[in-house]
Order: sequence, then structure tokens, then C-alpha cells
Amino acid sequence: MNILVTGGAGYIGSHICRALLASGYAVHALDNLSSGHAEVAVGTLHTVDLGDVVGLRNIFAEYHIDAVVHCAGLINVADSMQHPEVYRTVNIEYTKSLLEEMARANVRDFVFSSSCAVYGTPQHLPVDEATPFHPESVYAETKVAAEEIIRNSAEMYGMRYAILRYFNACGAAANGSAGEWHDPETHLIPNVIRAAMSQQPVMIFGNDYPTSDGTCVRDYVHVEDLADAHVKALQYIDSHVEPLILNLGSGHGYSNAEIVAAVETELKTKIVVQYGPRRVGDPACIEASNEKARMLLGWQPRHDLASIIRTAVEWEIKNKIASLRSQ
Ligand code: UDP
Repeated sequence: MNILVTGGAGYIGSHICRALLASGYAVHALDNLSSGHAEVAVGTLHTVDLGDVVGLRNIFAEYHIDAVVHCAGLINVADSMQHPEVYRTVNIEYTKSLLEEMARANVRDFVFSSSCAVYGTPQHLPVDEATPFHPESVYAETKVAAEEIIRNSAEMYGMRYAILRYFNACGAAANGSAGEWHDPETHLIPNVIRAAMSQQPVMIFGNDYPTSDGTCVRDYVHVEDLADAHVKALQYIDSHVEPLILNLGSGHGYSNAEIVAAVETELKTKIVVQYGPRRVGDPACIEASNEKARMLLGWQPRHDLASIIRTAVEWEIKNKIASLRSQ
């Protein structure tokens, strides 16, 4: 089977491509390389913008694509507040045109990268899939809108689909071939690791939250576990009529201070922490209920926090060495 992965050269997309290849699928990665990296792409890379309808049409015409995994999109919450129209165009309009091109090409299976951001600040923990939407950023609004378009398109065009709501993706491929590579890097784990490696302080946003140690709590799920869930989701929708809507989280919350401590343990070093003001739009605590994914897909996260930190550290060390070599 041929699978088109949009955003296939991105952090999560490139790991999904690896998991699909390992399961025997033929993989086509579509990426405009604006934030993705050709170096981590596997399968056939098509350097095409998601908004390029003719480019998309050509891929569907040339290759017999059986299903689409749609990861391409803009992901930065703060950026979305500054550039709402760009986020709406890329995350909503381009999802719509992708679905239209799929329908034209008679491609009926669709897996979508959504986010726990659709729930906003949860009233109850852990967060299950029945939790009402409460988007608190333009980014989150675009994910809610895209989910709605997928529901409507699926009905209109007779598609089968899965919507996968990620919690905090992290870690790197166990074989070191891919990992988190954002520019600029805004995520906690790589920032803490880089601070430790450079012996610089790390800035933690807020220590006055109503949590056990005052720092925010998040549910970290290894990117290879996420990728594995996509393969299982594709197989599920291939044999079921009803749509699949799932949370993908580990089911455990860790505070920012606990993440710092885990990196200290892995690198056997002390990290200097500077506490800054809260970051706008950060809920105090998010933890997933992943019961539905366990039950319907037989999915189970295999990487614990130590494994997440270890693979992320290995990736950072590898890249630091590579960048030193190229200087
Ligand atoms: N965070 C932090 N310092 C950083 C990056 C992130 O304190 O350099 C905090 C952030 O405020 C949040 C948690 O780490 O409480 C996770 O943030 P991240 O950006 O990694 O993921 P998000 O939860 O926003 O998707």
C-alpha cells in the first residue's frame, strides 16, 4: 500500500514514515521543507507545498496513493496569536483542499494529526475524548475547525478517518536517525538538555501553578509510540466503518521541575534553573486518558520518561557533534 504523509520531513511525520516503512508500506513524504528537513526524510520525498493543489493533484495522479496521513501544519501557539490568518490558511484551508484532492483521486482513508490543545484547560483529569472543546489559542481553534471539516468531508465523500489528538510529543528515534529539530526550539525537553550540555541556565515559565511543585504538568509521549499508533490507526480504519477519534498520551503527568531532574539524572549534571513569568496560554496540568487507544488499537506506549530523555539526549549529542564537525 502507498501512503502519503504530509509533513513527512517534520519531527512527527518523519517518525511516522519510518514506522510505516518498517510495517511494509510504501511511503511518500510531502513537505515544503519550511520547517522540515530533507536529512530526516525517508521513502520518496516530494518537496511540494500543501497549498499547491496542482502539485498534490500530480502526486495523486502519478502514484497509486491508498491513504493519507496528514501531519503538515503550523504548530506554534504563540506564533498563531501573532499570525492568525496564516494559521487558518495552512491548518484549515489546506486541510480542506487536501481532502478535496483526495476525493478527486478516490483516496478514502485519512489519518489526521490533531492536538490535546482542542480541550484547553481541562476541568477534569485525566482528559478523555468526550471532553468538550475549549480552544484557547488560534492554533487550537484551527485544529477544532480542521476536525470539523474532516467530519463533513468524510460524510460527503464517503471517507474513513482517524483523528489522533497528541499530547506532548518528545524523544527521538532509538537508532538516532531522527529527532526533534525545530528552529527556533521552543519545547521543554530539548531546551533543558541544551542548557545542561552548554552549562547555561534554563528558563522555566512559572513556578506558582497549583501543582505539587508549582511548575506545569504535561503528558509526554514518545514520538515512536505516536508513530506506532498511526500505523495501528491506518489498519483499524481499513477494517472499520466508524471513525476513530483518540487521545495519544502516556497517561502520566510530569512537572517541568521533574523533567529538569530527569535530564540531570541522565546527564549526571546539575542544571541551573531560572524561573520566569508564566507563558501565556499554558494550562497548569494536562494528563491524557489513553484507555480508548489501548482498547481499540491495542496500543501501549513502550517508552517511559527515562527512555524519552535518553533518546532525546542521544539525538542532541549527535547533532551537536555534527554541527561542530561542519564548523
Ligand atoms: N517550558 C519552559 N521552558 C521552555 C520551554 C517550555 O518552562 O524553554 C514549559 C512550558 O511553559 C510548559 C511546558 O514546559 O509548561 C511544556 O511546554 P512545551 O512548549 O514543551 O509544550 P506544550 O505543552 O506547550 O505543547
